[in-house]
Amino acid sequence: MNPVDNPAILSRSQESRTPVESKIPSLRPVPAPIHPHGRPLPKYVTTPPTPPPPPHLDDYAGIIGKQQIETLHFLAEELRGRRVKMVNSTAVGGGVAEMLNRLVPMLSELEVHTQWDVITGGNDFFEVTKAFHNALHGAPYELTRSAQDIFLMYNEQNRQRMNFDDDFVIIHDPQPAALIRARNDHAAKWIWRCHIDLSNPHPDVWQFLRPFIEQFDAAIFSSQSFARQLPIPQYLFYPCIDPLSEKNKELDDTFVQKICDDFGIDRSRPIVTQVSRFDRLKDPVGVVHAYKLAKKYVDCQLVLAGGGAADDPEGAAVLQEVKDAAGNDPDIIILDLPPWCGLEINAIQRASTIIVQKSLREGFGLTVTEALWKGKPTIAGAVGGIPNQIIHKLTGVLVHSIEGCAFQIRYLLTHPEFARRIGTAGREHVKENFLMTTNVKRWLLLFRILSGQKPVPIPSDTQSAA
Ligand code: UDP
Repeated sequence: MNPVDNPAILSRSQESRTPVESKIPSLRPVPAPIHPHGRPLPKYVTTPPTPPPPPHLDDYAGIIGKQQIETLHFLAEELRGRRVKMVNSTAVGGGVAEMLNRLVPMLSELEVHTQWDVITGGNDFFEVTKAFHNALHGAPYELTRSAQDIFLMYNEQNRQRMNFDDDFVIIHDPQPAALIRARNDHAAKWIWRCHIDLSNPHPDVWQFLRPFIEQFDAAIFSSQSFARQLPIPQYLFYPCIDPLSEKNKELDDTFVQKICDDFGIDRSRPIVTQVSRFDRLKDPVGVVHAYKLAKKYVDCQLVLAGGGAADDPEGAAVLQEVKDAAGNDPDIIILDLPPWCGLEINAIQRASTIIVQKSLREGFGLTVTEALWKGKPTIAGAVGGIPNQIIHKLTGVLVHSIEGCAFQIRYLLTHPEFARRIGTAGREHVKENFLMTTNVKRWLLLFRILSGQKPVPIPSDTQSAA
């Protein structure tokens, strides 16, 4: 909707250009100062909403087609009644918990009875596992005897508390890896699902964990480049998004408009957006510089929607750096959102003309998946799992520098037909490879392979990463 047609929708840049108000301050109440980088957040985002009930498999038929749903039922037929146990270290927060929240009911609906257990531990355990996590990503660390003992002790406590009489036991990430000691004569297959990047792990931590990992029947990684050399079969499972979640479902345009109005985003002009935690590795300051370079040639606004700054001192420092870099440009809108703003993020992504994810390092980069799913022309750093998603100039564009990013912003804004084409191809790429339903299919195929059943090959779906 064009603000000119609707006086109720006044863009912030127009507000700041209205000279009449400033000439007659005594006739009006003094207006609240407008934040140079956006309005105060609307009240409704401060309270977490009640989550909607999880969808059923048939609800996905409108997206992936009825035949794909039938394929899932077909693949599950010979697995019916089998029991699966998923184990991870947190019930809420983070991508793994979000994914398990969907995967568990979907497998159960296919009568592959799936249970999800969360390991428990004291602060000392989670301090050690957080340090392991960082060290496995390459951070410096001194592995002590005491850290090893804490790790083993809590794994042992959990082993004694849990039972493992399932057909498939899936251990997510390193925290519960030593539960493999519970393996007994039962014919259960044990799978280690590693969600983190192991390409450059701290050698001592990896040496400590490796003997546990080698006892599994298979390991799964999220990208070819994240895998290690191991004597067990390795599989590649891409992370995935749920197209029916609050963050990804289709939205009514009036809702998108309302969110833009509430957040001070002017839909009559191009919108370039990056959604990301305020983290240096996401390079939000680099995005501001790229926008400023592009802005010399093309009109646009920049929206930086992030979170995590409130409870993370480093996040708060990065947010401040971003504000400093933005200066007093009224076309830069910085939003520090609470973690439950899936719907708002969805609306902002849908309102955007271009989405940027200029990461310097990345895991898989789910924000890229979300942008592509919304058919948005996407510019992203060629790091981590992003090149799995963005095939340069086909499903998006890859960049390596601020200048490259600025060039692509300018190019996409001035070549809308090309932008539309890569956006459409990006959505198809996500539909084929990175939706929750494809992930369910991969699990079913793997269960069949590991239990010695005919794999019913669908070659592009489950590939060996080894
Ligand atoms: N996200 C969010 N609120 C924010 C910033 C990010 O909900 O303020 C979401 C984003 O939409 C995506 C996830 O957090 O679903 C980030 O995943 P990604 O793999 O891109 O990066 P990570 O933060 O895990 O490094």
